[in-house]
Amino acid sequence: MRYIAIVGASLAGYRAAQTLRREGFDGTITLIGDERRRPYDRPPLSKKVLAGEAEPESIVLERSGDDLGIEWRLDERAVSFDASGLALSLERGGELEADGVILACGARPRPLPGTDGILGVHLLRTLDDSLALREALTTGVGPRRLVVVGAGFIGAEVAATARGLGCEVTVVEALDRPLARVLPPVLGQVCADVHTDQGVDLRLGAGVDGFDTDDGSISAVRLSDGSSVEADLVAVGIGVVPNTEWLDGSGLTIDNGVVCDETTLAAPGVVAAGDVARWPNRRFGESMRVEHWDNAVSMGQHAARRLLAGDGGVDLVYEPVPYFWSDQYDRKIQLVGRVGPDDQVQVIDGSIADRRFVALIGRDGQLVGAFGMNRPPAVQRWRTRLEEGMSWDDALALASEGS
Ligand SMILES: Cc1cc2nc3c(=O)[nH]c(=O)nc-3n(C[C@H](O)[C@H](O)[C@H](O)COP(=O)(O)OP(=O)(O)OC[C@H]3O[C@@H](n4cnc5c(N)ncnc54)[C@H](O)[C@@H]3O)c2cc1C
Repeated sequence: MRYIAIVGASLAGYRAAQTLRREGFDGTITLIGDERRRPYDRPPLSKKVLAGEAEPESIVLERSGDDLGIEWRLDERAVSFDASGLALSLERGGELEADGVILACGARPRPLPGTDGILGVHLLRTLDDSLALREALTTGVGPRRLVVVGAGFIGAEVAATARGLGCEVTVVEALDRPLARVLPPVLGQVCADVHTDQGVDLRLGAGVDGFDTDDGSISAVRLSDGSSVEADLVAVGIGVVPNTEWLDGSGLTIDNGVVCDETTLAAPGVVAAGDVARWPNRRFGESMRVEHWDNAVSMGQHAARRLLAGDGGVDLVYEPVPYFWSDQYDRKIQLVGRVGPDDQVQVIDGSIADRRFVALIGRDGQLVGAFGMNRPPAVQRWRTRLEEGMSWDDALALASEGS
């Protein structure tokens, strides 16, 4: 293999390129990305960059000394792919025929229906989005009135950062609790309480019915319960969609992501990684697509090794335990494992009332997750145990020993 093309110049794509070099690949690596910037980290976009506490330069992924000899094709979009010939077409012209292709083209925010063309409605995925939202949150007369639609982790982080900037914040969530489809109720509730503690007006079980505008700019959000919330700005955090439309007709299977096998292989010579990839995680007996930083790193690395291994890589099964963190106000929230709303929960350290605790999460006699608030070392210990596998009883026994 002499020529590898990577589509998506972000976290998974860049980590894949690093791994190719570390594994000794000395052929050509072309990294194609439709943003004009070199790869950067997205988590600070809703946290320190949005707060104005970190400069854009501080989030670039390349470190001095990283010399990967990459052929950069930035501000360039791949518009079609033929998986059988490993041939890519680029928007600004040109075809590439590679010996191997890594698909790391990520996901983009789902837009809120009815907001097209309304000024003051923001999505958040790129550095430019973050800088634009920051500008909007910090200019104008008096505190800005922000409505966040969606109480998932990104919406929650934007709400927290905006409160820190002195904004009046309302969070609107269609479900009865934040993260109701993901977390057991007691944990979703504490995620809600962290915001009400800080003066956020949390409207749960309320859908968005429509918008009022003033001269083309947002002025209020109308809710399904008949109420209306005045707004200078709206931030939308209602989930993401994988960037796969350009792969229609490629010969790959697309089903809410690029479908791969257990090893991250999507077709001979084609692997996928990060937010765009769906694969059967053997550890959980479940097909998953994970939209978290940690997975973009480890799957990018894994996919690069898998591609280099060729036919010899069938045993390179990718079966991580998903891990996620979120920073809101002075709380670090961490979740490791694959959990659901009906799982059992046991707080084993600290207390929910203090918003400082570790809870174990179990299902069918097995430990399936650990959730922490301001308890990073303990969560890391439980992460290792989850990777090793542990019964619920053994986990509780270990916890009662204080380990
Ligand atoms: C605001 C924000 C905060 C976050 N905070 C956290 C956090 O606290 N904890 C956590 O675990 N995770 C967090 N995440 C999630 C994490 O950043 C993502 O999981 C990670 O960025 C995924 O990396 P990726 O490389 O797979 O995809 P992406 O980062 O989405 O990158 C894909 C790249 O491919 C480009 N692309 C798409 N299609 C094409 C094409 N056809 N041709 C060329 N280029 C293309 C895209 O423009 C993009 O640059 C956050 C994400 C956001 C947006």
